[in-house]
Amino acid sequence: MSSTKISHPPVKHCAETVNAKYQHGRPAAELVPSRYAHRVGQIDVLVVSDGVLSLPGAMLGHNVDPTVRAAWLQDMFLPPDVLEWALNAVVVRSGGRTILIDAGIGGEFPDLPRAGLWADRLADAGIDLGSVTDVVLTHMHMDHCGGLLAEGVKERLRPDLRVHVAAAEAEFWASPDFSRVSMPPGFPDALRRTAKRFLNEFHGQLRTFETEHEVAPGVVARRTGGHTPGHSVVRLASGGDRLTFAGDLVFQVGFEHPDWYNGFEHDPEEAARVRIDLLRELAATREPLVATHLSFPSVCHVAVAGDAFRWVPAPWEY
Ligand SMILES: [Zn+2]
Repeated sequence: MSSTKISHPPVKHCAETVNAKYQHGRPAAELVPSRYAHRVGQIDVLVVSDGVLSLPGAMLGHNVDPTVRAAWLQDMFLPPDVLEWALNAVVVRSGGRTILIDAGIGGEFPDLPRAGLWADRLADAGIDLGSVTDVVLTHMHMDHCGGLLAEGVKERLRPDLRVHVAAAEAEFWASPDFSRVSMPPGFPDALRRTAKRFLNEFHGQLRTFETEHEVAPGVVARRTGGHTPGHSVVRLASGGDRLTFAGDLVFQVGFEHPDWYNGFEHDPEEAARVRIDLLRELAATREPLVATHLSFPSVCHVAVAGDAFRWVPAPWEY
């Protein structure tokens, strides 16, 4: 099925439907937690929520029959048309370095008013942007790098900040291919524009790597490709503990249906292959997983279930 044949409602419509009860920006009183601390051996991990993105349900699997997709959403008690995607970023401290993994969407997208809270929430968590030594970007989609472009952020970052991204990712955005994605109207232009602006504003800080780079003790960025050509995961290891930040390799539906193509995937077949490999590995090692768009705080495990997988959210640790 051609990805371009799916008709998505404009995101503005989605936003109006879901956000009707919200004013633009952060709710006055935050009744839902937005940060979650976790430890991996000697490494401190903090999952920080940037908010949620209201996006068309069709993006979860644009290569499947709409009735099959609708049945899955119904089975999962999810709404049929517009889903709220979590948007998680991570802060890691290891070996005296403070590392941000992804940065949320920033403030440029008024049709997605319930995200873009990352910088405020870092401040609420007591994390001073001036203390950050490194940023790792899983990829350069705007919901992962946009926060670094938000007003007032760059001025507070250190001039010697290092931004780690796969060389293939920086190359891809010089001339990106959107021929196989399935996105709502306006998204390709916004993604192109944001990545271009990011490369312009941060080119002096960029530290590219080919396949793997150890950012700090036990903190390794590893290129996977798939979702985008330079998509990377971050693998944490300390003592006997492990954790993988999977970025956009897996969405909630990806456990049960790892072969469903997500609308943001630039090479969907490769994305599915990479997803299956990672899930298979994590199921075998029993290593926990955190991912951008799994429900906050997203700490979970992967189990094998027949030909596919099962998502096993971890109990919250208090
Ligand atoms: Zn994403």
